[in-house]
Amino acid sequence: MLKPDSDAPHVCGLGWNEFVKKLEDFHGYAAPGALWGGIMVDMARERLKSLFGPDALFWVLVESYSCLPDAVQLLTPCTVGNRRLQVLDLNRYALTLYTKPGGQGVRIFVDGGKLGPWPHLQSWFMGLVDKKDQDANLLTNDIRLGGASACSMRAVRVPETYLRRERKGKIGLCPACGEPYPLRDGERCLACRGGFDLPVELKS
Ligand SMILES: [Zn+2]
Repeated sequence: MLKPDSDAPHVCGLGWNEFVKKLEDFHGYAAPGALWGGIMVDMARERLKSLFGPDALFWVLVESYSCLPDAVQLLTPCTVGNRRLQVLDLNRYALTLYTKPGGQGVRIFVDGGKLGPWPHLQSWFMGLVDKKDQDANLLTNDIRLGGASACSMRAVRVPETYLRRERKGKIGLCPACGEPYPLRDGERCLACRGGFDLPVELKS
């Protein structure tokens, strides 16, 4: 276990203080969830290295929009924009690192049964304490020292849908909105097929 004042490399090769600084620059502040997310990314990355070697290319699937995507984008080459990071809006604090072509990888998640030894982490994560009553320093310390042991990790395989290479194919103009779209999406663009809350044009 790390000493509270240790700045030994801890999170994807960064010392703790260095990680916190980078996170503040990237995320806007050192959000507890993003700090914890960094520890989770580090653990999954190390396990993946031991399974597939240090140079294996990997992709990431996260199961929450809160904080976790930024931990991944800060600490790995995987971003939403290069399509190596996908986000499922499931509100579970979990992420999966996987390889191609087989889709094998590791999933790490917050384990509700392992929060007990870390009371500040537990009360924050489970929503047992008002934000105004939360001691930020004690919480950060619990995350730093207990974040790893409060997670569990499993070997997994992601479904084929995550492994396909997306090609746009031919582009046409949507007959409804007039904007270019991949014809493989159907007779109209996905937006015009409905089901999305989209920006509404204002009359000038
Ligand atoms: Zn359209």
